[in-house]
Amino acid sequence: MDDILYDKHCECLACATEFTTKKVRSNRMRTISRDSDLCSYFADVNPYYYESNVCPHCGFAFTDSFSPLRANQKESIYADYKNHYLPQGAPNLCGVRNVNEAILSFKLALGAGFAKKEQPRFLAGICMRLAWLYRAEKNTAAELEFLEAANRFFQVAYETQQDSLSDAHFLHMLGDTSLRLGRLDQARQWFSQLFTPTHADYAHIDLAREAWAARKNEQNAKG
Ligand SMILES: [Zn+2]
Repeated sequence: MDDILYDKHCECLACATEFTTKKVRSNRMRTISRDSDLCSYFADVNPYYYESNVCPHCGFAFTDSFSPLRANQKESIYADYKNHYLPQGAPNLCGVRNVNEAILSFKLALGAGFAKKEQPRFLAGICMRLAWLYRAEKNTAAELEFLEAANRFFQVAYETQQDSLSDAHFLHMLGDTSLRLGRLDQARQWFSQLFTPTHADYAHIDLAREAWAARKNEQNAKG
């Protein structure tokens, strides 16, 4: 365990305190399988547990994708965040985390990201991580709650993005989350936009095709 994790130096986006937090060494991540929505399963340690950085001094949480806070944002955003998410003060999540601590760290990052109006694609990514952690815990109700939230953020991301580089990824996630939420008509609409020659080179096109085909076969078998 010790050599799989290392201490990464971070600077808090809110209070500028420097701290270290655990990360999984990328050369020690071993993927054993993957779901159709790109949830990976790992041997040894799950790197998702350590993706959200939580400042041990002020409790502000952020992923490596978050943009810095502007000076005039810091006070108002942090005050709102603290009231909502830290009624018991800042937790220390900088050491080895269990699944509940990993879930807490992402919920804090979601709250902080929402407060600072972080890009919808990053908020969607956090919601997917939360859904995946709950999936691994077999907590279906909580998994669906975060798939629903991810689906909404992906729709905003898809509609407001400035370039088309991520189109295929958004369409895949919109189709797959709709499928898992039982919304077949919506899933069909998103996948029909994905399964076009424009997106033939998308790296995960086969995963998406298989997920959609499996669900259609299930429906046909039902009758
Ligand atoms: Zn801080």
